[in-house]
Amino acid sequence: SDLGPEQHGLIISHFGRTVDVEATEGSKQGEIVRCHMRTNLGQLVTGDRVIWREGKESGVVVAKLERKSELLRPNPYGDMKPVAANIDFIVITVAVEPTPYANLIDRYLVAAELSGIEPIVLLNKTDLLNDANRAGIEQMLQRYRDIGYQVLSASSASEEGLKPLKEHLNQRISVFVGQSGVGKSSLINTLLPGVDLKVGELSTQTKKGRHTTTTARLFHFPDGGDLIDSPGIREFGLWHIEPDEVINGFTELKPLAGLCRFRDCKHEKEPGCALKNAVEDGTISEQRWNSYKHILCSIEEQNS
Ligand code: GDP
Ligand code: ZN
Repeated sequence: SDLGPEQHGLIISHFGRTVDVEATEGSKQGEIVRCHMRTNLGQLVTGDRVIWREGKESGVVVAKLERKSELLRPNPYGDMKPVAANIDFIVITVAVEPTPYANLIDRYLVAAELSGIEPIVLLNKTDLLNDANRAGIEQMLQRYRDIGYQVLSASSASEEGLKPLKEHLNQRISVFVGQSGVGKSSLINTLLPGVDLKVGELSTQTKKGRHTTTTARLFHFPDGGDLIDSPGIREFGLWHIEPDEVINGFTELKPLAGLCRFRDCKHEKEPGCALKNAVEDGTISEQRWNSYKHILCSIEEQNS
């Protein structure tokens, strides 16, 4: 045929049945080629590693390699669909202002843990730290360090902390998530100088009228590592999960849950509950325990 030899590539954006593939080996390494794909491959998403072949005007993706992780989101019909693949870090971004709430961080941590993707807690806007807010924020962040999470801090305004952040994200694929206003766009613009973040957007004409579809797009940080970003990814959160799964999202509670006296312990009023004992003796922070109960309650309400 007219196709070139098989080679490895990385999906950096997708548009329906067409994808942009970056060549990751060979004479075209680093170049981006618009590709069609064989129909038996299923949905390809940004971050997918593929085998592709060069054609005359465009390429053809012939195989999708196994994913090491998937970021899922509900589509408009409520079905969970992957929106990005092979992500290593979910950077949960909070800021000195708006005031960060531990319960919200915990919700993101549960979502990350249940995706099987390593979370990082990032405090942004450190230039706004002062004597009135420093101790409270520091105490909150220390709780996450104590249970083993990586906690970083930075300011895109003062550029404080950017070097350690870049070093941490080096060689890995990250997404930034968090509430609106915490400074994700500002940080990303600082980390990706000269990139137009609107580049992944495209409008499509459908029977229901015109609407804008925004697909995820992969960017390379100048000092190494990659970012996958889209408005939809930034809104990553706790989608449809079962009440039973909530405990698996709490890294320090999960190993204790099997140690309760009763196998079907609900961790409420049962005697010999390993979790409640751990809260009482201070092994588990009261804040995290309250968060667990709060999230469980909200999931039960949502599902009922
Ligand atoms: P996003 O909604 O998370 O993308 O947040 P933006 O990047 O749009 O930032 C929200 C607001 O916070 C804007 O007014 C920014 O100028 C401001 N901001 C962002 N980063 C910093 C920072 O490091 N320090 C300070 N003081 N303000 C910041
Ligand atoms: Zn229990």
